[in-house]
Amino acid sequence: MSLLAKSLAPGSTIGIVGGGQLGRMSAMAAARLGYRAHILTQEADGPAAQVAAGITPGGYDDPATLRAFAAAVDVVTFEFENVSAEGLSLLADLKPVHPSPKILGISQDRVLEKSFLNGAGVATAPWAEVTDEASLRAAIETIGLPAILKTSRLGYDGRGQARVATPEEALAAFHRLEPKPLVLEGLVNFACEVSVVVARGADGQMASFDTVENHHKNGILDLTFAPARITEEAAASAQALGRQVAEALDLVGLLAVEMFVDADGSLRVNEIAPRPHNSGHWTMDACPASQFEMHIRAVAGLPLPAAGRHSDAMMKNLIGPDDMALWPEIVAAEGLIPHHYGKAEARAGRKMGHVNRLFPKGSLPGPFGINAALGPLAEPTAQQD
Ligand code: AMP
Repeated sequence: MSLLAKSLAPGSTIGIVGGGQLGRMSAMAAARLGYRAHILTQEADGPAAQVAAGITPGGYDDPATLRAFAAAVDVVTFEFENVSAEGLSLLADLKPVHPSPKILGISQDRVLEKSFLNGAGVATAPWAEVTDEASLRAAIETIGLPAILKTSRLGYDGRGQARVATPEEALAAFHRLEPKPLVLEGLVNFACEVSVVVARGADGQMASFDTVENHHKNGILDLTFAPARITEEAAASAQALGRQVAEALDLVGLLAVEMFVDADGSLRVNEIAPRPHNSGHWTMDACPASQFEMHIRAVAGLPLPAAGRHSDAMMKNLIGPDDMALWPEIVAAEGLIPHHYGKAEARAGRKMGHVNRLFPKGSLPGPFGINAALGPLAEPTAQQD
């Protein structure tokens, strides 16, 4: 069968650009399928390096480092998107790169990303590119206020963006936010935020995980609920949209599509990420093949099994020193499935690990039950809505 002939043999080496937790969990999934993971990272003792078969230490944009990395691997993938276009094309000249440099280029840049999505017929928040004060004034004119001003590149976890309610605030944020250009986005009054993680093979076969619901705290993902507590129609539309974007990109690999759900159930895509995603961590315990296994399978040319869940699930991120102070209680708590990323230092706002909690399929509890199910991580007063 041609698919088998093209798939990577066990014992082959999968190169992963980026040494953080997504690389760590991808490397662990690769090892389970008989592959060696080789990491390009500046952190010789970072989360991914600790569990990998080998590393190439060094910068993502240094040609000599990239050549040494490419020489050590059979295929290249990413857990980190911000590699320069030159770095990507150098890698792609030497080894197969999945997802393609073109897709990474689109996801690195909000202007390219939103232009691509709108061009593919996918709705986003209204937006306009802002390069100088004149284009800021023009953007305010068309988009209106309040709005969100975001850097086009290098923003993550709520960094590189500001909510602005007045032209004065917008001007101050314009001067503060770097790098330029920026994007002014209309504020979406969403009912909830959801995401879909979809894997796609070189033959076009796709597998998408159930639509999940995401809650953020201080701009960082806090909780994911699987499945999303939205109508079946909206969940199905989100699935269709995720697959549509994967096809439009001609994806080989894994893609997360983050969306806003309006009160009427209509969907708008906020962001895409062509790699495993924090909102897919629940799949590690609630699905036969996790998002990390799907990622490795798609990159290695293996068949993609169905992505259905066997359980409902909740994922909570462990952020910074406060959450990690609870680690002894977390590992002792009945029903919490702990995942530690092996980071030495628990700085404020840093993702240190996560916990999953499973529920029989169809019985994800309501807000009170969800909070109670978090055990030592439950918030004494607040309820999740
Ligand atoms: P982003 O960095 O674009 O993923 O934004 C981080 C978070 O900010 C999102 O998950 C939303 O909670 C919020 N956000 C971003 N863009 C918008 C928008 N246009 N309208 C409302 N909320 C937004």
